Amino acid sequence: MQGTLAVAAAATLSGAGCSRKREGSDVAAEATSSPKLGWAIVGLGKFTTEQLLPAFAQCQRSRLAAFVTGSAEKGTRLAGRYGVDEKSVYSYQTFDKIAQDRNVDVVYVVLPNSMHAEYTQRAFRAGKHVMCEKPMAINEAECSAMIAAGKAAGKRLMIAYRAQFESHNRAAIELVRAGELGRIKLVIADHCRTIDPKDPADQWRVRRALSGGGSLVDIGIYSLQAARYIFGEEPTEVSAQLASTPSDPRFTEVEESALFSLRFPSGGLANCSSSYGTTNVKRYRVIGEKGYAELDPATAYEGNTLRVAKGGAAEARAVPATNQFTAEIDHLSECIQLGKEPRTPGEEGLRDVRIMQAIYASAREGKSVKLT
Ligand code: NAD
Repeated sequence: MQGTLAVAAAATLSGAGCSRKREGSDVAAEATSSPKLGWAIVGLGKFTTEQLLPAFAQCQRSRLAAFVTGSAEKGTRLAGRYGVDEKSVYSYQTFDKIAQDRNVDVVYVVLPNSMHAEYTQRAFRAGKHVMCEKPMAINEAECSAMIAAGKAAGKRLMIAYRAQFESHNRAAIELVRAGELGRIKLVIADHCRTIDPKDPADQWRVRRALSGGGSLVDIGIYSLQAARYIFGEEPTEVSAQLASTPSDPRFTEVEESALFSLRFPSGGLANCSSSYGTTNVKRYRVIGEKGYAELDPATAYEGNTLRVAKGGAAEARAVPATNQFTAEIDHLSECIQLGKEPRTPGEEGLRDVRIMQAIYASAREGKSVKLT
């Protein structure tokens, strides 16, 4: 297995999918080096430390190679823990030196949303491939600039839509595509939680300049994604309402709750919600002519469930649990190694940002907005 990967990696890294020119000595080095691509993680916050770093232990094609952090102490401590060379701990100021770090193939941007565009473009300028967290950026212009930078560099750009690599969501997509539920008419999706001003990870989320929006862009995006990947087509019209509890200091800059509906060309409708002021909800239902499927939770880090009802009561569907982060990270490495386009490229992130801008416009203008 390892040998096959090494050959595939060496062959494709010099192929059309990856434009960095390889000198003869580079190719020799690659043939003898590990088949796993080296990943630099930018931003050692809550999501990185609690979910992403541990997930690398199970990766087959990816390994931790560098950290980029505002805290040298944290970078050094985590480097020791995860076997990263201390020389490969960068600050935001020294980040561009990563261009010379031959251990790093991919940069994973896990920063507040408004910083995604800058670090993605700097990573491409450094000659690296990029995984960028959701939402891709805070407006369409930034997304387009990120996509253009990737194309100019000849490098891959993937948006980290982990649910598209999660086994219960994959099973739901497959049973819908196989026609098990008949033609799908409705998707109902809800993603809600309570935002906590004491948690540093929640502080930037309520500052519009850093987040670009409230519950919609942070977790409503999972409802939007579910509607799009279940229907397998693009919405043509959105209509939305936003609300915040009056005088709640958490919601002076961003919305607390969002309700939005999407119209799909095949005659389907999605009814989606997000909130920053309720108990945890991460679920969706898919309702078809012959049955329905229910995922609750649908987008948790683990413990997701799938129930399917056809005729009578809903029955649990046994789906093997896999590590969605490992699958997602290895997917990009595989695409780089084999010269394939990722399942969730920059264009996928741009589509969501465009639809979310239309959702905000609909709420602002009090009317539905057509998407072209
Ligand atoms: P976090 O606040 O825990 O981490 C953000 C990191 O950015 C921290 O290390 C912080 O020090 C650093 N940072 C650098 N400059 C900063 C600045 N000016 N202000 C604030 N922080 C700054 O947040 P998080 O929850 O880890 O989220 C980071 C990104 O990951 C976001 O884009 C978020 O949407 C995404 N995320 C994705 C998932 C998922 O399931 N895919 C889950 C959580 C977060």
